Amino acid sequence: MTTTDSGKHWLTPLLATWRAQRAWIFEQQVAIARTAAPTGNESERAAMLQQDWSNCGHAVTRDGAGNVIARVTPTMSVARTASAPLVCLAHLDTVFRADEPLVVRQEGTRTYCPGIGDNGRGLAAMSVLARVLQHPEVRARLHRPIELVLTVGEEGEGNLRGATQWFDDAAARGHTPVAAIAIDGPGDCTIVHHAVGSRRVRITFTGVGGHSWANAMTPNPVHAAGACIAAIARLADASRPYGVVAVTRMHGGEHLTGIPTQAWIDLDMRSLDPTRLRTMSGDVERIARRAVHDASQQQGAQAMQFTITTLGDRPAGMIDDQHPLVVAAASATRAVGREPQSASASTDANVPLSRGIPAIAIGAGGTGSAAHTANEWYDDTESTIGLERAIRLVVALGTAERVAR
Ligand SMILES: [Zn+2]
Repeated sequence: MTTTDSGKHWLTPLLATWRAQRAWIFEQQVAIARTAAPTGNESERAAMLQQDWSNCGHAVTRDGAGNVIARVTPTMSVARTASAPLVCLAHLDTVFRADEPLVVRQEGTRTYCPGIGDNGRGLAAMSVLARVLQHPEVRARLHRPIELVLTVGEEGEGNLRGATQWFDDAAARGHTPVAAIAIDGPGDCTIVHHAVGSRRVRITFTGVGGHSWANAMTPNPVHAAGACIAAIARLADASRPYGVVAVTRMHGGEHLTGIPTQAWIDLDMRSLDPTRLRTMSGDVERIARRAVHDASQQQGAQAMQFTITTLGDRPAGMIDDQHPLVVAAASATRAVGREPQSASASTDANVPLSRGIPAIAIGAGGTGSAAHTANEWYDDTESTIGLERAIRLVVALGTAERVAR
């Protein structure tokens, strides 16, 4: 990024306007959090935010995946602008089911509500960005289009479906973005430039089942699953810190007095290193094979089977802390009086990072914790700092004459 216009005085009154809008922004955030958006069923929240963007003058479109997209085009002469866009993404979905009570509870400065921070905060910040980028002072200085994208399917089994669709479509149109910024959750100092890759699988053990007394020698899928879990626990100890593997769900058996016909376990494997992810996947398969072999030993004729089904696959990738995009984010962080911190996470930024497109994820201000649980909370006290950082960064990248890849 060659120039940072964000230090220029024209931006100061604009930032002050948004600082004064803290209460309004928080109201939007609460309204967003109270609108259910389970992964795969984001349409109500998507429609609400689409309407909001339309109301502030954007031509808003939806793509095949259900992403909500607004494209902000520069007003300066085409000859002076670049065609590759900057893209900002925020995910619409939450990990919560449709029937999760989205009750808002205030305790001191903390607001409790599932999804209030992740990604209520990021989405509220996108409402602000949609307005900031419509401002004539900003549009007149834009050197490239900016695409604002609200993505579906970021969480869990969504597998970054929305972001993947957007980057596939952009590649098909020949519009590879100069950089991507995912706006995800609260925060005002971390810069995620390491994308944690993950592989999620279900191992299903099946056998013929039988009476627990009369067919006592029948291989037992629940026993095999148990042996497999014990071995995976040892693998988990051996893999840390470069890779993590966890059994996250399990199920098995049908009757109290019967040898089960089926058991399954779900695994979540994560690493920054794609090679290590592959190695761990291979180890897990060997462990499952061994568990089935051991359980079938006694009754060769009635062997047990196992299958491994992929539930999730998120690519890994990274840029280093000297990359111009990370440097630009660090300078926006310092501009608001915070010390930048490198971080790793799994966000919509995984998709561009795995394709060699510079990308980071940043928070949208405020603090919070317990994301992905019913006790998630958010504190709006100093939220203007992180919001201002996001605005400064997006404006700096949008108005820079050249953005280095
Ligand atoms: Zn998130």
